[in-house]
Amino acid sequence: MAYEPVEDADFDTGVLIVGAGQAAVQLATTLRDAGYDQPITIVGDEPHLPYQRPPLSKGYLLGDQSLGGLEFRSSEFFSDSGIKVLMGERVESARRTSIGGVVQTATGRTITCDRLVLAVGASARRLPLRGVDADGVITLRVAADAERLGARLAVADDVVVIGGGFIGLEVAASAKKLGRRVTVLEAAPQLMGRAVGAETSAYYVGATRRRGIAVMLDARIVGIRTGDNGEVSGVDLADGTMIPAQLIALGVGVAPRVELAHQLGLHVDNGIVVDDHSLASDGWTIAIGDCANLPSPYPIDPLLTRVRLESVNNAVEQANHAAQTILGAPVPYRSVPWFWSDQGDLKLQIAGLSSGHDQVVVRGDPGADRVAFLYLREGRLIAADCVNSPADFAAVRRALAGDVRVDPRRLADTSQKLAVVLHDAVSA
Ligand SMILES: Cc1cc2nc3c(=O)[nH]c(=O)nc-3n(C[C@H](O)[C@H](O)[C@H](O)COP(=O)(O)OP(=O)(O)OC[C@H]3O[C@@H](n4cnc5c(N)ncnc54)[C@H](O)[C@@H]3O)c2cc1C
Repeated sequence: MAYEPVEDADFDTGVLIVGAGQAAVQLATTLRDAGYDQPITIVGDEPHLPYQRPPLSKGYLLGDQSLGGLEFRSSEFFSDSGIKVLMGERVESARRTSIGGVVQTATGRTITCDRLVLAVGASARRLPLRGVDADGVITLRVAADAERLGARLAVADDVVVIGGGFIGLEVAASAKKLGRRVTVLEAAPQLMGRAVGAETSAYYVGATRRRGIAVMLDARIVGIRTGDNGEVSGVDLADGTMIPAQLIALGVGVAPRVELAHQLGLHVDNGIVVDDHSLASDGWTIAIGDCANLPSPYPIDPLLTRVRLESVNNAVEQANHAAQTILGAPVPYRSVPWFWSDQGDLKLQIAGLSSGHDQVVVRGDPGADRVAFLYLREGRLIAADCVNSPADFAAVRRALAGDVRVDPRRLADTSQKLAVVLHDAVSA
């Protein structure tokens, strides 16, 4: 559905949500569902109606899905719900007033509001590398990036992915599916090191290589080489090796967007620091989604008290809780985090946070690409990384809401359903 621009010039609104992604749409719809009857406005700097980001590295990149098909809601839905959506409009400044807040957009529009919400997400990091600005070095965060990446993928024979995190590995799997020669260069000694345990990571190194994707860990990149035409031609490593590439996908993490938070004088530290009601340091502005640094909603590891979670699940759950704050019935944000990453035929689903674990149980058969890595701390199950094992994932996710102390041998025993083992453990 085509996006219809909002004509009004300056205006006043109840809730103003800056950023038009997963968290923004969830908050607006939850507020309406809960009976909030004041005007709601979403302002986003991308030119399209809000859409789902996960397919950008998968179905959309492969040309199997259209952008329209990724939209969360139609423009009719937004207008019928009284949610004003301004797209292609960047909020450039924000400040508090005695009765609320006021923002100014790049088109010169002024919007005043009773409550300001920052749902501004994050932007893809680049690396300070020689040649990093060459044609053909592409990061992936928004639909426009996926379009550039897809156009290059169509003509490149050799693809190098710098960064072996979720997005890098998803792009690598998509490129392989299109028949490209693919190399993943990861500076750390393990893949997906920020998100999964070492055992899961080691499995992924093998599984990715078995799928014909070269994986280099501890990679020391010294620069990106370009041809006479200014186009990328390869990656130079510290040992003198050159890996040819006509496309380099940079997947080296994201930086939370904190420009407006700085203007508002909010506490910023790896994101906009909020409390468990999503309130920033001024006690009024709300920050949700990838941009927010929050008290861990799953406080299992005493060393991990604050987190910034980059996931659909967090954007949705935190937005739902923030709606309660706005409605004046705050509920502390507690939840078992979960994530997923589809890399070709490998469906990874993660429940909980494995940081601080002291024991790992392998359930299933890594060789058959159907395995769950279960992470425990002091005898208590705290997380699971499940590969092509959706039933195990669902069982763990449910069980982690309670205190699960279970004999590791029972966890490893695939003759028994994990749901049954965990049900016995929780109620024991
Ligand atoms: C390629 C890709 C694949 C992913 N795959 C998965 C997956 O498989 N599973 C999973 O759980 N998560 C996945 N994610 C992560 C997930 O999409 C994010 O965690 C989620 O989108 C966060 O939502 P958000 O609303 O916080 O931020 P975003 O969705 O990034 O939305 C923020 C929006 O705010 C806009 N904005 C920022 N500043 C301003 C401003 N000043 N004025 C106006 N607009 C502004 C931004 O342009 C953006 O459109 C993926 C992300 C990417 C990029």
